[in-house]
Amino acid sequence: MFETPAHGLLDLLGAPTLVHLPGHQDPPIFFSTLLHGNETSGWEAMCEVFGSALRDGEPLGRSVVIFIGNVYAAAAGVRSLPGQMDFNRIWRGEHEHSALVEQVMAYLNQQPLFAALDIHNNTGRNPHYSVVTEITPHTTGLAYLFSDKAVLVEEPDSVITRAVQHLCPSSTVEVGPVNDVQSTLRTADLLRRYLELETVPTNGADHLTMHRALARVHVVDGASFDFADEADAQRLMDDDLVLTAGMEAVNFHPVAAGTEFGFTRKPLHSTLQVLDPQHRDVTAQFLEEVHGDVSLRRAVIPAMYTTDHDVIRQDCLCYFMEEI
Ligand SMILES: [Zn+2]
Repeated sequence: MFETPAHGLLDLLGAPTLVHLPGHQDPPIFFSTLLHGNETSGWEAMCEVFGSALRDGEPLGRSVVIFIGNVYAAAAGVRSLPGQMDFNRIWRGEHEHSALVEQVMAYLNQQPLFAALDIHNNTGRNPHYSVVTEITPHTTGLAYLFSDKAVLVEEPDSVITRAVQHLCPSSTVEVGPVNDVQSTLRTADLLRRYLELETVPTNGADHLTMHRALARVHVVDGASFDFADEADAQRLMDDDLVLTAGMEAVNFHPVAAGTEFGFTRKPLHSTLQVLDPQHRDVTAQFLEEVHGDVSLRRAVIPAMYTTDHDVIRQDCLCYFMEEI
């Protein structure tokens, strides 16, 4: 199995799959990957670390339970299939994947877990960083195993790391761009460090730069949009919304109030919407529009700003954060 590329896992496994590998120590670590089908670095790192251990007949330092997520999307090389729910938004509520979620959670619930790690690739130009859904000595300790940058994301609450946080400390890593060998090497290194842990570290808080997500920025459904540097002039003339090229380059950097964000040809509320973690519309707190020019009303730290149109449609354009 650990020699099969991500796009071949559907043929091999037929469905999302849990794998339990015994190691020297218990309880197991829960690793999840491919919740987004085109984010393959986590799987490549698992092939490297677990595949080589199995080939050499070497037991792992600690037992692991692996969840291999959206193999359907992985086979197609996309984040999620058209019309399919995002596999990192299915871990709460009733929907088409409830049976899968119940099976996974039933398996995880029947044993103690050491820690949980969900592995993603960054969308957009971002440094690699950790994400936590709550701040505790253990979650910050895990976050700092990977990076000195972390983000507290309280919303959406349907992500897998939140679903398991009552079982063990959990964190997510955004390991870097897909198809970058550094992302895979960095992740393989992290997996090895997890396997060697005797206890969950608690020393993160002193070293981490922690950010809190204040709001998510969405392009309103139905609004046409492009980025100023990527479309031809005619298309930009027709778009409802033209987003500022270069915003992506300031991910994780403080950006001042007044910074240009884009240009809207329709009223702002019909092209851009900013939602706080309670899903309240807070657009007016963050963005202002004068004769179509949209700028930041307050200083923020953008994160996960992406120019990938599919991700923007399915998820969001970016987060606005502050340092805490
Ligand atoms: Zn992802």
